[in-house]
Amino acid sequence: SLFARMDEVEGKVKAYLTQTRETALAKAKAVDEKIARGEEISFLEGIPGAIKDNICTKGTKTTCASKMLENFVPPYDATVMEKLQAQNPTILGKTNMDEFAMGGSTENSAFYPTHNPWNIDCVPGGSSGGSAAAVGAGTAIWALGSDTGGSIRQPASFCGVVGMKPTYGRVSRYGLVAFASSLDQIGPVTRDVTDCAHLMNIISGYDKRDSTSINAEVPDYTKSLVKDVKGLKIGLPKEYFVEGMDEDVEKAVRAAIKQFEDLGAEVVEVSMPHTKYAVSAYYLIAPAEASSNLARYDGVSYGARVEGTDIVDMYKKTRSEKFGEEVQRRIMLGTYALSAGYYDAYYLQALKVRTLVKQDFDKAFEKVDVLITPTAPTPAYKIGDMISDPMKMYLQDICTIPVNLAGVPGISLPCGFSNSGMPIGLQIIGKPLGEETLIRAAYTFE
Ligand code: GLN
Repeated sequence: SLFARMDEVEGKVKAYLTQTRETALAKAKAVDEKIARGEEISFLEGIPGAIKDNICTKGTKTTCASKMLENFVPPYDATVMEKLQAQNPTILGKTNMDEFAMGGSTENSAFYPTHNPWNIDCVPGGSSGGSAAAVGAGTAIWALGSDTGGSIRQPASFCGVVGMKPTYGRVSRYGLVAFASSLDQIGPVTRDVTDCAHLMNIISGYDKRDSTSINAEVPDYTKSLVKDVKGLKIGLPKEYFVEGMDEDVEKAVRAAIKQFEDLGAEVVEVSMPHTKYAVSAYYLIAPAEASSNLARYDGVSYGARVEGTDIVDMYKKTRSEKFGEEVQRRIMLGTYALSAGYYDAYYLQALKVRTLVKQDFDKAFEKVDVLITPTAPTPAYKIGDMISDPMKMYLQDICTIPVNLAGVPGISLPCGFSNSGMPIGLQIIGKPLGEETLIRAAYTFE
C-alpha cells in the first residue's frame, strides 16, 4: 500500500514536513467501509494526496518551511482546501518547499532538503519540491503546489511528473500564504494529464475572497482529454532555446516537437524578444511584493517572536533569527527596489518590462494556439551544486518566469530522460484561460 511505500522511501526522499497519517488511515478505512456497503463514492474520495506547506489547512500546521511559522496552525482552510474537502480525499500531509516559496531546489527549506526520487543525490526542484517528489516517489497520488515563477512546473519536470500553473485568477489564492501576490497561483501536481484535468475541475473557480479571482465559468476539463492535435498551431519561441541549455534537454524537446508534427500539428518559429529581460524584471517585482507581504511577520500578530529589550529590538531579532538567508536577501532586494529614489529606476522599470513581456505573448498568440519550450534549461542537478550562487539559480527560471509575468497558463509534462537517467520536462504555454487546449495537447502527447 501507499503507507508501506511511505515507510520504504520517505526516510530518503523527505518530501513531507508534516504527516497526518492517523487521520488519513481513519479516512481510508471509512471510505473502504462505504464501498463495502455498496455506497457511491465521489471521484476523489479516499484518494491520497499531499498539500504544499504554504496552503492553509485548518488544524494542521502550515509552516511555509520557515522557522517564522514553525508552530503556526491556521484556524481556517484555504479555498482550495474547502473545495477539495467537499470531495472527501485522504490528505497525507504537508509537503516541503523552499522557505516562503523562494527558491528552485527546496534547499531553502529551514528544516531539511527534499531529495529527488530518481536520484537521491539530486534536488527535486522547487519551490514545490516536496509535492513533486511525493508524487514522483509514489508517496502521494496527487498534490497541490504553488507557482510564482515556475515552482510547480520546474519541480514537476525534475521529478518526472505533470504540473500545471493555471491562468492567474483561475484558482483562488485565498489561504495561500502570499509570496508575490500578482504572480502566485495554486495548481495540481499529478502523475498524468488525466489526473491534472480532474484536479483542475475541483480547484478552479471564482472566489469573492480573492480580489483577483476571475469570474468566468469553469469548463469540464476532462472533456479536453481527447487525443487530437490536428491543425493545432504550435509556436516555438526561439529565445527559449537559450545558449547554455543542456544538450539532452534540447534533444528531448526537439524530439517532442517532431512528435507533435507527426500527430498533425503545425509548428512555426516565433520570436519573443523581451524574454531576455524577464528574469531581471521578476527578481525585482517578486522581491518587491514579498518585502511588503512579509512585513506582517513582526513577532506580534503571526508566528514566532524572539524577545528583545524593546519593541524595535524584538522586531529586529525576530526577523533576523526566524527568516532564512534567501528570504532576508529578497526582503532587502525588494525594500531597496521600492525605496524613494530607486522606485522609478527599478520597480517601475520592471513593471514596464513586464508589460512588454506580456505583449510578446499577445503577439505570439495572434499567430499560434500554444507555445512549446523546455520547462527548465537543465535536468535536476546535485544537491549543493547551485545553492551558493543565487544568480546562477535565478537564471535557471528563464523558461518559466515569463509565463507568470504574463499571467497565462503553463503545463510541464515528462518528455524523456537525460543520459544520466534524470527526467526532462516539456512546457506547453497557453492563452489566458486556455487550459483546455493545454490539457488536450498534453494528453495527446503523453
Ligand atoms: N525560483 C523562483 C524563485 O525563487 C520561483 C519560485 C516560485 O515559483 N515560487 O522565486
